[in-house]
Amino acid sequence: MRLFRRSALASAALLIFGCSTQPAMFAPNARPVNFQGQSGPVSSKLIEYSGNFQPTFQNSFLSMRPLVQNGYTVLKVRYSNQQQINQLNEIGMDVWMVTPQHVLGQVNDEVFQRLQDSRLPFELISPERGISAANTFDPQYHTYDEMLQKLRSVTQRHSQIASLHDIGDTWEKTQGQANRDIWAVRLSGQGNPDQKPGILFLGNHHARELATVEIPLLLIDLLTENYGKDPEITRLMDSRDIWLVPMVNPDGHILAEQGQNWRKNTHVHGRHRGTDLNRNYSYQWGGGGASTSPASDTYRGEAPFSEPETQAVRNLLTSRRNLKVMMSYHSFSNLILWPWGYTTQRVPNAKLVEIGQKLGQMTGYRPQQAADLYVASGLTDDFTYGELGLYSYTTEIGSWGDGFDPPYSRVKDFWNENRDAALYLIDMAGQL
Ligand SMILES: [Zn+2]
Repeated sequence: MRLFRRSALASAALLIFGCSTQPAMFAPNARPVNFQGQSGPVSSKLIEYSGNFQPTFQNSFLSMRPLVQNGYTVLKVRYSNQQQINQLNEIGMDVWMVTPQHVLGQVNDEVFQRLQDSRLPFELISPERGISAANTFDPQYHTYDEMLQKLRSVTQRHSQIASLHDIGDTWEKTQGQANRDIWAVRLSGQGNPDQKPGILFLGNHHARELATVEIPLLLIDLLTENYGKDPEITRLMDSRDIWLVPMVNPDGHILAEQGQNWRKNTHVHGRHRGTDLNRNYSYQWGGGGASTSPASDTYRGEAPFSEPETQAVRNLLTSRRNLKVMMSYHSFSNLILWPWGYTTQRVPNAKLVEIGQKLGQMTGYRPQQAADLYVASGLTDDFTYGELGLYSYTTEIGSWGDGFDPPYSRVKDFWNENRDAALYLIDMAGQL
C-alpha cells in the first residue's frame, strides 16, 4: 500500500513558490507509514492526530503527511520588515520558508510561548498547537552505518583514485556514548592531489535533511565509476582534488533515522539537547539570526566551534590550503545561496555572485545572497568565505512539498537538478 499521490495542491504550491519539480503527496491523516509499504508508528512516543483537518494550500505540507502530537506547531508569521524575520530566528523559530509577507516554519512549545510574548501576528497552519507532521525515514535513504559501509566499499574498489578519511569524532563519541566518526572521501586521479586546486562538498549539517547525504554519495559514484571512461570526468579527476563529507552530523542523523524531527547535533545542555551546527562556525558567530537558548532549534552553541563536528570540518579545511570552493547541501526551498548570511551587505566579489547565478540556472533553483532570505550568523559559508577565502555556496534542495524527508524516489530528481552544477563547480575550482 503506497499512500502518496499527486494532487492539485502540489500544483498550487509549485505556482506560488516557483518550485521546479512536482513533489510527491501523501494522503491526509493517514497512519504513519514507511515507504516500503508497512504501516506502523514512526515513533512509539507519537500519538496520531485524529481531529478534523481541511487541507488547503497553506497547509499543503501538513496535508501530505501523517499528523501527530509531537509538541511542534507549524505556523506563519506576518512580518513587515527584515528585523522581524531576524527576531523570529533569534527567538528560535525553525524557519522553513520566507514569502513576501510571511515567514513559515515550525516552533516547539517553548518557542511558541516566546512567539506569543513577541506580539508578532501569527496564524496556525497546524490544526492545533502541538500537532505537526510526523517525520519519516524512507529506508532507501542511507543510514549512518550504510553510508560508512558504502564509503568503505567504494574507496576499496577504487583505491587508486579514492581514499577514506576519519576527520573527527562526533559529540557522542567524545562523551564515550557512541562510536561514530565524521567521514570524508577524497577523490583525485593522476598526479599529486595536494598540488591541484580543490573543492569540498558537505552534506547533512542538519540531521533531518535526508537528501543532502545522498547527493554527495551519488557524486562519489559518478566520479569513480566514470573515471577513465568519460573524458570530462577523467579530466576533472586528474586536475582537481575533490573532498566530500556526506554526513557532517551522524549523531543527529541517527535520530532522523528513527523518524524524529531532528536538526541539531545531540550535545546535551542541561535539560535540552543539540547545537545547530550551521550556527556554530566562528565567522561573525554570536550575531543575528542564531539563538542563545539551547531549547531552540537554532542554538548557536556555547562558543564558536564548541562542537566536535564543526571542529572536524574546520580542521579539514585549514589543513588543505589547496581548497578553493565549498558547497554545503541543505534542505529545503530550491535555493542557491552565497555569503553573506550575517548581514545584508553585499560581498565585494562579482565572480562569487556570477557563479552563484550560474548554479541557479543549472539547478533551476533561485539564486540569492543568504541574508536576503534571512540574516543568520555562524554559518559554514560565511566562515569558509570570510575566513578562508573559498568560493562558498549553500544549496537548499527540494520544495515546500518535499520538506525535509521526501520519499527516496525524489532523490533522482534532485540528482538531475544538482549533478551538472556540481561538475561545473569542480571545474570552476581550477579557474579561480
Ligand atoms: Zn539545513
